[in-house]
Amino acid sequence: MKHRIRHLTKKCLDCPAFIQNHNTRCTPCHLKWKWPPQPIEEVFLKHVFKSETCWLWTGTKFSDGRGMFHIPRTGHSICAHRQSWIIYRGEIPKGKLVCHKCDVGHCVNPDHLFLGTSQDNTNDMLQKRRGNAWGHRQKLVPETVLQIRELYASGNHTLKDLGKMYNCHLGTIYDAIHRRWKSV
Ligand SMILES: [Zn+2]
Ligand SMILES: [Zn+2]
Repeated sequence: MKHRIRHLTKKCLDCPAFIQNHNTRCTPCHLKWKWPPQPIEEVFLKHVFKSETCWLWTGTKFSDGRGMFHIPRTGHSICAHRQSWIIYRGEIPKGKLVCHKCDVGHCVNPDHLFLGTSQDNTNDMLQKRRGNAWGHRQKLVPETVLQIRELYASGNHTLKDLGKMYNCHLGTIYDAIHRRWKSV
């Protein structure tokens, strides 16, 4: 072992460590170079599609449809809308929940969020469940239907994309685009 180390003459680009000839950096420096630490907001916004009203989470989602944010370098995840609150509004007081003013569970627009109690949240969930009662096809609020139609008309999004963005079934998206909704 000693013998091999004596033959290392090349130095890491970023620190004084000796490295193998075929490398340019030592392992820790290489990792830092490959994944430089980024401001959390930047990482967060990579998974956000800002529509006219809602900021839609395009990353992984929890089974209840809420966005899931992987906190870099920790291995931990947090609700994306909670992370949004932390970035744009600050700490979440103990015992408070971050709730939605809009009915889009994976919306992370800080303007659509408010601090509530668990009671507010239960009301919120009950309302959502009522909204989803129509088979596997969800009922969308008129604004969302209009948004979906507009996005689809722009030609930049497929039905599948839209389903992912709004976290609903293709049937729901199809309905929003092609069906004349009573309300819209
Ligand atoms: Zn190094
Ligand atoms: Zn929203």
